[in-house]
Amino acid sequence: MHCEYCGRNLETIVILNIPSKKYIGSYNTFACIDCSKNNDAYCLRHEIPHLGFIDGTTACRLCIEEKVECLGEKVANNYFCELLKYLPNNQLKELHERFEPVSKSLNESIEKSIFRSIITYAMRFKKSHEEVMENMIEHWELAILS
Ligand SMILES: [Zn+2]
Ligand SMILES: [Zn+2]
Repeated sequence: MHCEYCGRNLETIVILNIPSKKYIGSYNTFACIDCSKNNDAYCLRHEIPHLGFIDGTTACRLCIEEKVECLGEKVANNYFCELLKYLPNNQLKELHERFEPVSKSLNESIEKSIFRSIITYAMRFKKSHEEVMENMIEHWELAILS
């Protein structure tokens, strides 16, 4: 196996969760550790590859969890209240249908599951979570469902 970026023979394989430019149709890219460290799909802080999404965006699973825990339940609950206040019923229903199974399987509140997906979306698109939230309540943009 060779690194898809520098072509060196791999000593340590890092499997990046981004579509391969070399093997069209593959959702992973094989890289050496040096090339991974220069890649947006690798977290330097946690030294792990990011999670990959179908549109090619990525985010670090541990960075997401850190942010969710650091901002905490209070922010998650506030955000949920705002969504209840500003979103039309059919969108609330959509949110509920999407996140109820998630919160059940993770054994956490639906507030926290929705909050995590706001944080995840923000990281994937390099926005602030405030901005993502604003788009949701002002423009009814449920991009986090995508
Ligand atoms: Zn390389
Ligand atoms: Zn990270």
